Amino acid sequence: MACPLPTASAPDLYVSDGYRVRLAPGVLAKALRLARVRAPLETGGLLLGDVVDGEAHVLTITGPGRRAVHGRVGYDADRAHDNRLLARVYPRLRYLGDWHTHPGGPARLSRTDEASVRESLRANRPEVLHLLLSGPSAMQGHVVASVFAAVLGEPAIRRMEVVS
Ligand SMILES: [Zn+2]
Repeated sequence: MACPLPTASAPDLYVSDGYRVRLAPGVLAKALRLARVRAPLETGGLLLGDVVDGEAHVLTITGPGRRAVHGRVGYDADRAHDNRLLARVYPRLRYLGDWHTHPGGPARLSRTDEASVRESLRANRPEVLHLLLSGPSAMQGHVVASVFAAVLGEPAIRRMEVVS
Protein backbone atom coordinates (compact mmCIF):
# COMPACT_ATOMS: atom_id res chain seq x y z
CA MET A 1 0.00 0.00 0.00
CA ALA A 2 1.06 3.55 -0.57
CA CYS A 3 -0.39 6.95 0.03
CA PRO A 4 -0.39 9.94 -2.29
CA LEU A 5 1.39 13.11 -1.23
CA PRO A 6 1.09 15.79 -0.04
CA THR A 7 -0.15 14.54 3.29
CA ALA A 8 -1.88 16.19 6.17
CA SER A 9 0.24 17.33 9.07
CA ALA A 10 -0.79 14.32 11.19
CA PRO A 11 1.77 11.52 11.54
CA ASP A 12 1.32 8.61 9.19
CA LEU A 13 1.15 5.09 10.53
CA TYR A 14 2.29 2.08 8.53
CA VAL A 15 1.90 -1.50 9.77
CA SER A 16 2.84 -5.05 8.82
CA ASP A 17 1.98 -7.85 11.24
CA GLY A 18 3.67 -6.85 14.46
CA TYR A 19 5.65 -3.99 12.94
CA ARG A 20 4.49 -0.43 13.23
CA VAL A 21 6.15 2.61 11.73
CA ARG A 22 5.10 6.16 12.41
CA LEU A 23 6.29 9.08 10.30
CA ALA A 24 6.46 12.33 12.23
CA PRO A 25 4.80 15.41 10.74
CA GLY A 26 7.03 17.03 8.18
CA VAL A 27 9.02 13.90 7.30
CA LEU A 28 7.27 13.29 3.98
CA ALA A 29 7.23 16.98 3.16
CA LYS A 30 10.99 17.20 3.67
CA ALA A 31 11.60 14.08 1.57
CA LEU A 32 9.45 15.53 -1.18
CA ARG A 33 11.34 18.81 -1.07
CA LEU A 34 14.67 17.01 -1.36
CA ALA A 35 13.26 14.79 -4.12
CA ARG A 36 12.24 17.80 -6.22
CA VAL A 37 15.65 19.44 -5.86
CA ARG A 38 17.29 16.48 -7.63
CA ALA A 39 14.49 15.39 -9.95
CA PRO A 40 14.59 13.83 -12.48
CA LEU A 41 17.61 12.24 -10.82
CA GLU A 42 17.23 9.93 -7.84
CA THR A 43 18.22 11.04 -4.39
CA GLY A 44 17.96 9.78 -0.83
CA GLY A 45 19.27 9.78 2.68
CA LEU A 46 18.75 8.39 6.16
CA LEU A 47 15.67 7.74 8.27
CA LEU A 48 16.43 8.76 11.85
CA GLY A 49 14.34 8.38 14.96
CA ASP A 50 13.55 6.14 17.84
CA VAL A 51 11.79 2.89 18.74
CA VAL A 52 9.15 3.22 21.45
CA ASP A 53 7.27 0.13 22.66
CA GLY A 54 8.15 -1.75 19.49
CA GLU A 55 6.94 1.07 17.25
CA ALA A 56 9.50 2.82 15.04
CA HIS A 57 9.16 6.58 14.99
CA VAL A 58 10.81 8.26 12.04
CA LEU A 59 11.45 11.70 13.48
CA THR A 60 13.55 13.18 10.72
CA ILE A 61 15.34 12.39 7.50
CA THR A 62 18.63 13.56 6.12
CA GLY A 63 19.60 14.48 2.58
CA PRO A 64 22.38 13.04 0.44
CA GLY A 65 26.06 13.57 1.15
CA ARG A 66 28.22 15.47 -1.33
CA ARG A 67 29.72 12.27 -2.74
CA ALA A 68 26.40 10.49 -3.26
CA VAL A 69 25.83 9.39 -6.86
CA HIS A 70 22.52 10.48 -8.40
CA GLY A 71 21.38 8.68 -11.54
CA ARG A 72 18.22 8.59 -13.62
CA VAL A 73 17.92 5.04 -12.35
CA GLY A 74 20.00 4.46 -9.25
CA TYR A 75 21.23 6.27 -6.19
CA ASP A 76 24.42 5.47 -4.30
CA ALA A 77 24.64 6.95 -0.83
CA ASP A 78 27.71 8.73 0.50
CA ARG A 79 28.13 6.34 3.41
CA ALA A 80 31.14 8.15 4.88
CA HIS A 81 29.01 11.30 5.15
CA ASP A 82 26.06 9.32 6.55
CA ASN A 83 28.22 7.63 9.17
CA ARG A 84 29.73 10.92 10.32
CA LEU A 85 26.23 12.30 10.62
CA LEU A 86 25.04 9.27 12.59
CA ALA A 87 27.92 9.58 15.02
CA ARG A 88 26.88 13.18 15.67
CA VAL A 89 23.17 12.53 16.31
CA TYR A 90 23.56 9.21 18.17
CA PRO A 91 22.30 8.39 20.83
CA ARG A 92 19.68 11.13 20.55
CA LEU A 93 18.51 9.63 17.25
CA ARG A 94 18.91 6.11 15.94
CA TYR A 95 19.42 4.93 12.40
CA LEU A 96 16.15 3.28 11.32
CA GLY A 97 16.86 2.87 7.62
CA ASP A 98 17.17 4.80 4.39
CA TRP A 99 15.00 6.49 1.81
CA HIS A 100 15.34 7.15 -1.88
CA THR A 101 13.33 8.32 -4.88
CA HIS A 102 12.10 6.97 -8.21
CA PRO A 103 11.35 10.01 -10.40
CA GLY A 104 9.31 8.64 -13.27
CA GLY A 105 9.77 5.16 -11.79
CA PRO A 106 7.71 2.49 -10.04
CA ALA A 107 6.47 2.40 -6.42
CA ARG A 108 8.46 -0.73 -5.76
CA LEU A 109 12.02 -1.60 -4.87
CA SER A 110 14.32 -2.85 -7.61
CA ARG A 111 16.50 -5.92 -7.10
CA THR A 112 19.42 -3.58 -6.49
CA ASP A 113 17.37 -1.60 -3.97
CA GLU A 114 16.40 -4.78 -2.12
CA ALA A 115 20.00 -5.94 -1.99
CA SER A 116 21.20 -2.62 -0.57
CA VAL A 117 18.39 -2.56 2.02
CA ARG A 118 19.43 -6.04 3.14
CA GLU A 119 23.05 -4.93 3.41
CA SER A 120 22.02 -2.67 6.28
CA LEU A 121 20.74 -5.60 8.36
CA ARG A 122 22.98 -6.68 11.24
CA ALA A 123 22.64 -9.12 14.13
CA ASN A 124 22.24 -6.09 16.39
CA ARG A 125 19.99 -4.35 13.84
CA PRO A 126 17.54 -7.08 12.75
CA GLU A 127 15.01 -4.66 11.19
CA VAL A 128 15.66 -1.91 8.69
CA LEU A 129 13.06 0.41 7.20
CA HIS A 130 12.98 1.95 3.77
CA LEU A 131 10.92 4.85 2.45
CA LEU A 132 10.45 5.12 -1.30
CA LEU A 133 9.01 8.19 -3.01
CA SER A 134 7.87 7.59 -6.57
CA GLY A 135 6.01 9.76 -9.03
CA PRO A 136 6.31 11.78 -12.22
CA SER A 137 9.85 12.61 -13.31
CA ALA A 138 9.65 16.12 -11.83
CA MET A 139 8.25 14.64 -8.58
CA GLN A 140 5.35 17.09 -8.82
CA GLY A 141 1.71 16.06 -8.74
CA HIS A 142 0.89 12.50 -7.74
CA VAL A 143 3.85 11.36 -5.67
CA VAL A 144 3.49 8.15 -3.68
CA ALA A 145 5.22 7.25 -0.42
CA SER A 146 5.79 3.55 0.22
CA VAL A 147 7.32 2.14 3.39
CA PHE A 148 9.16 -1.19 3.46
CA ALA A 149 10.64 -3.23 6.28
CA ALA A 150 13.45 -5.75 5.89
CA VAL A 151 13.64 -8.25 8.73
CA LEU A 152 16.67 -10.48 9.31
CA GLY A 153 15.82 -14.06 8.36
CA GLU A 154 12.74 -13.20 6.29
CA PRO A 155 12.95 -14.08 2.59
CA ALA A 156 10.88 -11.12 1.36
CA ILE A 157 11.01 -7.46 2.21
CA ARG A 158 7.69 -6.32 3.64
CA ARG A 159 5.64 -3.59 2.05
CA MET A 160 3.86 -1.91 4.93
CA GLU A 161 0.18 -0.96 4.86
CA VAL A 162 -0.96 2.61 5.41
CA VAL A 163 -3.20 2.94 8.45
CA SER A 164 -3.57 6.68 8.71
ZN1 LIG B 1 15.40 2.44 -6.44
